[in-house]
Parts: sequence; C-alpha cells; structure tokens
Amino acid sequence: MKKSFLICTGCGRTWPVTRAFPRCDFCAEPLEVRGVVPGRIRGSRFPHRTLLERYRDFFPFRTLNGELSLGEGFTPLVRSARLAGATGLGDLFFKNETVNPTWSFKDRGTVSGVQHALCLGYDRIGTVSSGNMAASVAAYGARAGLKTFVLVSAALPAEKIAPIAIHGPVLIRVDGDYGELYFRSIEIGKRRGIYFINSDVPFRVEGSKTIAFEICEQLRFRVPDWVVVPVSAGGNLRGIIKGFEEFRHAGLIAAMPRFAAVQAAGCAPVYRAFREGSERVQRVERPETLAHAIENPFPPSGNEVLRKIRAMGGVVAAVSDEEMIAAQRELAGEGILAQPEGAAPIAAVRSLAEEGRITRGETVVCIVTGGGLKYTAAFDFHRFRVAGCTLSTLEDHILSEDPGGGG
Ligand SMILES: [Zn+2]
Repeated sequence: MKKSFLICTGCGRTWPVTRAFPRCDFCAEPLEVRGVVPGRIRGSRFPHRTLLERYRDFFPFRTLNGELSLGEGFTPLVRSARLAGATGLGDLFFKNETVNPTWSFKDRGTVSGVQHALCLGYDRIGTVSSGNMAASVAAYGARAGLKTFVLVSAALPAEKIAPIAIHGPVLIRVDGDYGELYFRSIEIGKRRGIYFINSDVPFRVEGSKTIAFEICEQLRFRVPDWVVVPVSAGGNLRGIIKGFEEFRHAGLIAAMPRFAAVQAAGCAPVYRAFREGSERVQRVERPETLAHAIENPFPPSGNEVLRKIRAMGGVVAAVSDEEMIAAQRELAGEGILAQPEGAAPIAAVRSLAEEGRITRGETVVCIVTGGGLKYTAAFDFHRFRVAGCTLSTLEDHILSEDPGGGG
C-alpha cells in the first residue's frame, strides 16, 4: 500500500490503511481513506486499462491485480434533452450504472474492496446484502478464487437468490434484524479472518468515487450543478462526493456540485433526520417500500451523509413507490431499463424542481444505480398493454393502432 491512512468520519481519529475493520473503535462511525497524493489520470480504458489502472494515482494500492477486473466502470453518461425540457432543466444526464458486469454500481466498490483484501493477504471475503452487492461480491469472489460468504436476509425471494448462488459462494439466509447483521458480520469477520466488503466500508467508498471521476471526464471537466443519488447505506453517495473532492484537490475541476440524496418515502431515515434538523439518523421500525435496494432502516453511513449534505448545501428528498414506478417507466421511455430504485433520482428531480430547490437552467446528473432485470417482480406494478391477433387479422390490427401509417 502507498503512504496513506484511514480517518474516522465522526471523531477524526486516524487508523492504518492496512486495517480491514471499517469503523472507529471509539465512536463507531465509518472510516475513510485519506492521504493519497493525487497524480494524473492514466490514458486508455478497458480492455487496455482497467478502472483501477486508469485512476490508480487516486488509490492507495501500490500494485494492482489486473486479473480481478470484469470490465467494471466506464459506463455511459446519457443526455436526455426531452426530460430536461419537461423538467425545465438546462441539461439532464443519466449515469447508466446498469451496464456494469453484474448490472449495478456495486462492481466498482467490489473490485476495490477485493483488491484491498488481497493486499492485506486475506483469502476469504464476505458481504451482507439484499441483492445487488451480494451478486457483485459473489461474482468477483469467484473470479478471484476467494472463499466468499454472502449473508442475506431470510425473506429474500428466490428470484434474487439464484443470481447470487450461481457464482458458488457460501450463501447463508440469516433470520434476524437486517440492520444488526451489518455490525455482527464485521465483528465475526474480525474474529474469523473474513474481509467483509459491506455497503460503506472504506474501500467500497473508494470504488464509488470513480463514478464522479468518470462524470468529470465525460463532461470535459465542467462541473454539473447537481448530482442526484439514491441513498441506502450511504456509501455510494459518500464515494461520489469524495471523487469530486479529490478531482478538485488535484486541480482537475474548479468547483463542487451540490448533492441530492434520494430515499424511498417508506424507508427514509436520512430524509427524516434531515427534515427534523437532527444530527443522527434514527432506525425506521417498519420499513414499507417496494424499493428493497434502498431499504436500509438504519443506514451505517447515515450520520456521515447528513454531515456532508449539510456542509455542502445539499438536500435529501424522499419519493413514493408510485413515483418510482412512474419514473422507471419514464426512464425506459429514454431507452434505459433501471430498477425502480435507480429511477428514484428522476422522480426526485421533478419534485425538487417544483419546490424550487433545483432551478431552471441548471445541469443535473442522475445516478441510475442498477438494472431493471434484477427485479422483475417490480414489473407487476406496471400495467402494460399488449395486443393480440391472428395472422389473418394482423394488418387490420396494425391499421387500427396506426390509422395514419402506410403509403
Ligand atoms: Zn471515531
């Protein structure tokens, strides 16, 4: 590892970068990587260079294992003139994370976490996840030949189990409080020598910062006014903020965007604390939302997200299930099939624009966190119209659908 350290986001105490335990021994808040002297962006992309190779000057790894990569990152930034016009924005972009190797942004943090685990000499990794992260860690763990423990909630439907199980991890359904499972897993990992790459561990946050790096490059280092991110545990938003900060520190961008964190109204502990002016998130006792990928009743980085959002003049929004489903349809209308959670930002942009928080003419980037095929049960909430006919009535049918067509 290069000269660098971990710092507690709560009390500021520092810890060695060779530590796998992701939280402070004194205040239990999450740790973060600091002290890497930034250099430059290395040329070329996948397959000639991997994500970690391109941005290696911003990571504390002295050596990289190129074999770990599955081609994560380098995702498209898709402009939507139509939706920008509909919401009165100057420009609107979707950072399409659905095209990652396991169809979500999680692969960035997973490759970074696995790299750290290997640097520290671990041969066993693990994670606690309700879906996206489990599939990602299972895939990268298999790729790296590591014994991989995936802990999921007992209620996880079979549809979500299969894409994890197929990579061959030790897969354990755990009956008990899902929020508590996060803390229990890292304690067990410390005792048993398993590196848990959970939702907001320092090196997962490091991986997420590459989303910000790519946005900066894709916008030719013009900084957007807003970046809108679905928030569950809080690690991805922390990483994206950190990425913009590091590029500013390196002189690559001149300013910072503002950040909007988006939660599901049925499980919105960060939103509630933000509205109430509270410094600490409180556990949501009975979460009720279809947006399981952002349904964390007690986000482990919730307090840090609050601190950061407040310090930077950002905002926290909450959107209903109905709004997310409508936004999923809207995004599909632009050609992007997202999970409902991944469409949450565009739903939030609409309400933030109506409230005047996001103003006319501003440039907004929405992070589309995961792909729609990961959650096919959500299709049941749509009412799709599908016609049917016989071969002999086909042309009449087309004519009835499209009376103005034809020559
Ligand atoms: Zn601390």
